[in-house]
Amino acid sequence: METIAERLKSAQRTLQAASQKANRAPNSVQLLAVSKTKPVSDIMLAYENGQRLFGENYVQEGVEKIQSLQQVNDIEWHFIGPLQSNKTKPVAEHFDWVQTIDRVKIADRLNAQRSPFKPLNVLIQVNINDEDAKSGIAPDEINVMAEHIAGLKNLRLRGLMTIPAAAQCKQQLDDTFAAMQLLFQQLCTQHQSVDTLSMGMSADMESAIIHGSTMVRLGTAVFGERNKR
Ligand SMILES: *Cc1c(COP(=O)(O)O)cnc(C)c1O
Repeated sequence: METIAERLKSAQRTLQAASQKANRAPNSVQLLAVSKTKPVSDIMLAYENGQRLFGENYVQEGVEKIQSLQQVNDIEWHFIGPLQSNKTKPVAEHFDWVQTIDRVKIADRLNAQRSPFKPLNVLIQVNINDEDAKSGIAPDEINVMAEHIAGLKNLRLRGLMTIPAAAQCKQQLDDTFAAMQLLFQQLCTQHQSVDTLSMGMSADMESAIIHGSTMVRLGTAVFGERNKR
């Protein structure tokens, strides 16, 4: 069985190779280790091997882990799950980033509940394949949402995030990522704070990196198969 240290190293190698193939600078793509369902001890193993960015999907599970790792003060915590409006407060109080903003109401609540001393970094989630059951806003709603967030003083708009539809063939997935890249480039020209395109997971990180991803979110590739919740 592979260890977390070995998996992390091999994920980093894949990431670097894809960056090189795409003629991107060596450190232009960040690795977010998605630790949902995994114990704090697994997070610490990754941390000891140099990993600093961690992503959690569930509010209570995430906050518990953040609190039990409070003494480790250089971890950057990303909330990457769906967020209900009655659960924004603990997220605003404990996380460094929220990647799944898709409603004005959620942005407003996070802004109101965030400390003014340290802005919360946020990404707008885009439903790029127009799926009925998927979170995220339509591409033509990005500008209005971005303008709104830019006016909230305790949030900092950093860019876009997407989860593409499952079961796309390679060509469809490439087209999907290319469409996101274009939307990201447009947003960059309008907002100076925008520098992050979060796309690509364990199975499709190479294509995402070819199409300009600046942050891949890797669960299985780093921690192995997920545990049951
Ligand atoms: C679980 C999850 C991931 C990681 O998925 P893997 O396929 O295990 O790499 C990435 N992004 C989001 C939003 C997730 O919920």
